[in-house]
Amino acid sequence: MRYVSTRGEAPVLGFSDVLMAGLAADGGLYVPETWPTLSREEIASFAFRPYAEIAARVIAPFVGDDMERAELEAMVAAAADTFRHPATTPVTQIAPNHFLLELFHGPTLAFKDVAMQLLARLVDRRLAETGKRATVVGATSGDTGAAAVEAFRGRENVDVVILYPHERVSPVQRRQMTTVGDDNVHVLAIDGTFDDCQAIVKDMFAHASFREAVGLTGVNSINWARIVAQVGYYFAAAAALGAPERPVSFTVPTGNFGDIFAGYVAKRMGLPIDRLVIATNVNDILVRALSRGDYRTDTVTPTSSPSMDIQVSSNFERLLFEAYGRDGAAVAALMGRLKQGGGFDIDTEPLAAIRREFSAASTDEAGTLATIGRIHKATDLVIDPHTAVGVAAAESHLTEGVPMVTLATAHPAKFAEAVEKATGLTPRLPEALADLENRPERVMRLPADTGAVETFIADTCRATREDAAQ
Ligand SMILES: *Cc1c(COP(=O)(O)O)cnc(C)c1O
Repeated sequence: MRYVSTRGEAPVLGFSDVLMAGLAADGGLYVPETWPTLSREEIASFAFRPYAEIAARVIAPFVGDDMERAELEAMVAAAADTFRHPATTPVTQIAPNHFLLELFHGPTLAFKDVAMQLLARLVDRRLAETGKRATVVGATSGDTGAAAVEAFRGRENVDVVILYPHERVSPVQRRQMTTVGDDNVHVLAIDGTFDDCQAIVKDMFAHASFREAVGLTGVNSINWARIVAQVGYYFAAAAALGAPERPVSFTVPTGNFGDIFAGYVAKRMGLPIDRLVIATNVNDILVRALSRGDYRTDTVTPTSSPSMDIQVSSNFERLLFEAYGRDGAAVAALMGRLKQGGGFDIDTEPLAAIRREFSAASTDEAGTLATIGRIHKATDLVIDPHTAVGVAAAESHLTEGVPMVTLATAHPAKFAEAVEKATGLTPRLPEALADLENRPERVMRLPADTGAVETFIADTCRATREDAAQ
């Protein structure tokens, strides 16, 4: 499989190079040259098969010849084995026609473990193969960082550097990052928002000499491997609910548009998805974009669902590329306007194409808490605020005869404060994290300044120290 950039000016690469590149050299995002498809018979055969088996089958065409099939299968299985549930990503029912796809049974209690556990193994394998060392960098609104730290800690060939917005992540999220003692883990509290953190990461990737010197590798969901690792659970859940005979809809709590884009990929691969519903909190750039055709950034408002406190949804560029008929120049022009003027209008035809596949709804703080309380009363299940934003959006998009699956993206104990407010209950952390509060923290506080972060990395990470010694 070969990959092209959404801005049309970067070299065409294979899977392994896209894995290590993250962002394309022209500032775009890599997408596959063509969409592989699965037959209806094959999709039907997925019903009630182990998650890892389905995921490996879905991922294989995107990896192509870069890896032996048996090795990929073993790696996907090892990643899934870090989850505490025998079904890896189980489906539960909350109403006659409404289901939750539980994605939070991994080591850091959020859906990002699904992709990150696989990504770390793929990256480590690739570095060993090429005899190189890398600096893995990521901006996080909380969950990506924890998942990346957990997946990359102690790995031989990698330093991991995580930037998070100071005092804008939950205490559990922060502690999951800052209490990891491994030498190859570096956690930076940035004085700014998530978007500031993401902008610093983008700047570092655009800085070619620095990027080369430290072997910069991205783990944000702009990395194609992250997206592809999330496609498997759409197939697994839909097949369990009767696909391909019966179409299924999905509602996805959305921030950076990575998870829901994986659902779009599943649809392009042949999974009969009826609607893909984008669910946001009050940071609703995507809802405004769909309703008015105006993609325009606004200030970020902190909420009880911080992993969705985002005003620039990076992966939306991948959807724009499809909606604009894979016209890289058109996408580059839009992104130029976003950078210069803070926004752009989506043209009529592409907007219609997006609206054919996607719906969108936002939920405010009161609605989020009310939903947690209501679901708890009705089912005895305790959901987290991100999942609640999804459930609320899904409830306004239920269609007779089409099962709705809402992605449950985090464990309630990760966002205990909001859950307590809504239900009066204190959700308990799973056993493995029970002593999190007592572990010592290690963190470096830095200004929202690319130069300061580059200096820290150059001084600290082994990739540069070893180059300097040679
Ligand atoms: C990251 C995250 C999201 C948003 O996912 P995107 O792929 O960025 O759209 C939603 N919920 C939780 C709990 C997350 O960690």
